[in-house]
Amino acid sequence: MEFRLKNTLSHSAECLRKAVPLMVKYNIAVTPANYALWYSYVSGNHPKLNQKLDSALRTFGTCPPALSRDLFEEFLSDKDLELFDSVAEDINAVVAEVEKNVGQTLNSANDFSEVLSSCNQELSDFSKEDASERDILELVNKLSEESKSMQHTTERFQQQLRAAYQEISKLRSELNESKRAASKDGLTGLNNRKSFDEDLDLLCNSHHSVLKLYLTIVDIDNFKQFNDDFGHQKGDLVLKVVAERLKKHADELNAAYRYGGEEFCILSQFKDKRSAVNYLEKIRVDIERLALKDNKTGKSLRSISASFGVAEFDGESCEMFIERADKALYKAKESGRNCIIVA
Ligand code: GH3
Ligand code: MG
Ligand code: MG
Repeated sequence: MEFRLKNTLSHSAECLRKAVPLMVKYNIAVTPANYALWYSYVSGNHPKLNQKLDSALRTFGTCPPALSRDLFEEFLSDKDLELFDSVAEDINAVVAEVEKNVGQTLNSANDFSEVLSSCNQELSDFSKEDASERDILELVNKLSEESKSMQHTTERFQQQLRAAYQEISKLRSELNESKRAASKDGLTGLNNRKSFDEDLDLLCNSHHSVLKLYLTIVDIDNFKQFNDDFGHQKGDLVLKVVAERLKKHADELNAAYRYGGEEFCILSQFKDKRSAVNYLEKIRVDIERLALKDNKTGKSLRSISASFGVAEFDGESCEMFIERADKALYKAKESGRNCIIVA
């Protein structure tokens, strides 16, 4: 069993080691879906996929993102992502182990190199003092030469180790980065919709804490007007600064997400409704203090605000929980915006 596991793992690791340089070479974004695609490419389990990828590489010199998505849909499934995730985790563990070993070997190689170096120095000194004794001098010279060549070998070995070490570290950081990127929203850096769905599902289905669970939907007020009056880029800027405020207040019991467009979600745990609202009120005021300013004059062009719809979890389904928070948000908009309504 263990042998089989190791075998599978080393096969996976080998495929990954081949996939990564290809992705780098063809400028492919490091995402789990792309990894799954290129992993499948090097393992060759979908010949048709390989044909299509090869043809794209010939035509474009890369695989354009839209085609990557199509190919993923055609040949792979979310199951492949799961498989990849577990492979990535195994590899992380293996890599950590190898890294430790390489680190130790580097140290001992270093020590060895130092001993050789000082030995070499002694030999040279000795050879100066006893220059009259020809035979001894020859011997010393020979030893000195050998020691030098040993030193070169050690240095070369160290170089090889260092290169392997760097390659491994790079692979690991790419794996970690791809995992991180897959759960974040590209524009704001907040947790994305996918993380929200996963976290909500987990919290709703395993909520046993003495604390109560709250879902808040935060929607920027009159956001369309920012785009219409100042352009889409300024609109994006507003999204970023509002996200910053949410991030500032996030902690281990309060997670913020970009739900989509100008809507954000907060999953919180508090002992009661009052504590939840107190917390949200701080965020509301923080957003209210923001304003879109003129780049040159620094003058305030437009104030920013957001409405909050909150629901306390009562054991319902995720869909129902979201719907109640959404209804509360609708009421907040109806009540004149820039306020918090609890369902
Ligand atoms: P309300 O106060 O009722 O929420 O009004 P609103 O204008 O905020 O709401 P509405 O749903 O009418 O408009 C949302 C706008 O958000 C429309 C859409 O163009 C814009 N939007 C969605 N996503 C993005 C984005 O990523 N960047 C920018 N700049 N705008 C976006
Ligand atoms: Mg909206
Ligand atoms: Mg809005």
